[in-house]
Amino acid sequence: MAKIIVVGSSSIDLVVTSSKRPGAGETVLGESFKTVPGGKGANQAVAAARLGAEVTMIGRVGDDHFAEEILNNFKLNGVSIDYVEPVTHMESGTAHIVLAEGDNSIVVIKAANNEVTPAYIDQSMNAFHGAADMVMIQQEIPEETVTHVSRVCNKLGIPLLLNPAPARPLESEVIENAAYITPNEHEAKILFSDLTVSEALRKYPNKLFVTEGSKGVRYFDGMHEVLVPSYKVEAVDTTGAGDTFNAAFAVALAEGKPIFESVRFANRAASLSVTKFGAQGGMPTREEVEAQL
Ligand code: ATP
Repeated sequence: MAKIIVVGSSSIDLVVTSSKRPGAGETVLGESFKTVPGGKGANQAVAAARLGAEVTMIGRVGDDHFAEEILNNFKLNGVSIDYVEPVTHMESGTAHIVLAEGDNSIVVIKAANNEVTPAYIDQSMNAFHGAADMVMIQQEIPEETVTHVSRVCNKLGIPLLLNPAPARPLESEVIENAAYITPNEHEAKILFSDLTVSEALRKYPNKLFVTEGSKGVRYFDGMHEVLVPSYKVEAVDTTGAGDTFNAAFAVALAEGKPIFESVRFANRAASLSVTKFGAQGGMPTREEVEAQL
């Protein structure tokens, strides 16, 4: 069983559907409301656990009732929460989502996710000393924490998979320290603004993997640019496709699978995730992925 640490955000998504999006100063009557667990860190942790990894989450929640919902969801999916500490006098991270007129509008409140600080990482060092095969991180936590975790991984010799979402320019030190970096096309352009995607891939062979939705995933293997095509599926909801891809890629690599095979496995898992509604709702189990390979 691959041992994976996820350092990242955990949130509750508050989702309303409405036939009309309210304008400034306007009140409208909507149709439905639900709360679902989210946050890129939590999504990737849950996806990796469903795919058979032993997953430890390093994150923070608030001291509100959303914290309970977040923690219960981790437990339900078999993710260890030994290093998810509540922050007193603070709210849990939330995303306020309005689905209206065929599109979404989202306000994100980071709240407790801002407390995943370098000091908190130092306090959680026992997790890293537990012989992790891979550390995964995203960018919904403070920038200095990403840098700090990249240094910790480099020092301990643990491969780091950085999913640079949401995108912001990366320090060269972080790029050097990361073993794998997985932007989508849009994020790749922000990260490597002075290079074309092909130039960036060549600069970081077997490190940079650009996901291109239904087209596939591109990387440079040292000799050639490789496109690993996506699987053709009836896409219902692509939310969480990237999170599923990252988790599955990490699990496969942590198990020692070669890169090409790991990308294929991740494409298969991500393609299954888009056939169902919701970010975590569509994340497949190991058996479901293997049945389709
Ligand atoms: P999201 O933000 O929607 O979670 P993303 O923008 O981070 O995703 P994408 O490149 O859109 O990332 O998708 C990630 C992976 O999910 C792709 O590499 C592919 O394997 C799979 N995928 C996404 N959309 C589809 C689709 N329509 N059909 C099949 N596979 C898909």
